[in-house]
Amino acid sequence: MMAEGTIAERAARSLHDLGYRLTPQRILILEAVLESDDHVTAEDLFEQVKRRYPHISFSTVYRTMELLRDAGFVTQTDLGGGHWQYHPVEKATHHHLICQGCGTVAEVDQNVFDSLQAELSDRYNFDATLTHFAIFGRCSACR
Ligand SMILES: [Zn+2]
Ligand SMILES: [Zn+2]
Repeated sequence: MMAEGTIAERAARSLHDLGYRLTPQRILILEAVLESDDHVTAEDLFEQVKRRYPHISFSTVYRTMELLRDAGFVTQTDLGGGHWQYHPVEKATHHHLICQGCGTVAEVDQNVFDSLQAELSDRYNFDATLTHFAIFGRCSACR
């Protein structure tokens, strides 16, 4: 059952329920990351929010992303570029293969991990959250 409202509204409510103060800057950060279809870095978000709120600090953006990650709204993945990439959990039903030779990033479907998930459940009685993996290796051209 999905709660009502956009994902950004739901995230705002849930952070509020957790006792966090929701400043207009924070709401703008929420909207920017949760409504994005692509991965974004804290640096991208900082540049975006700074246009509206020139006095915002980078640490405010970074802390807000940590809250969203801990509250389960965004995934935080290292795709090899030296920066965390954030992605709304609802849109993170894919994984990435990242070539350490040429940096090419390929997308992998969630169902590739179905058998792994089943095995972790069977053998370890563990309900694994397999969202948005980054798997490093070498592509066919670089091998
Ligand atoms: Zn992704
Ligand atoms: Zn390669």
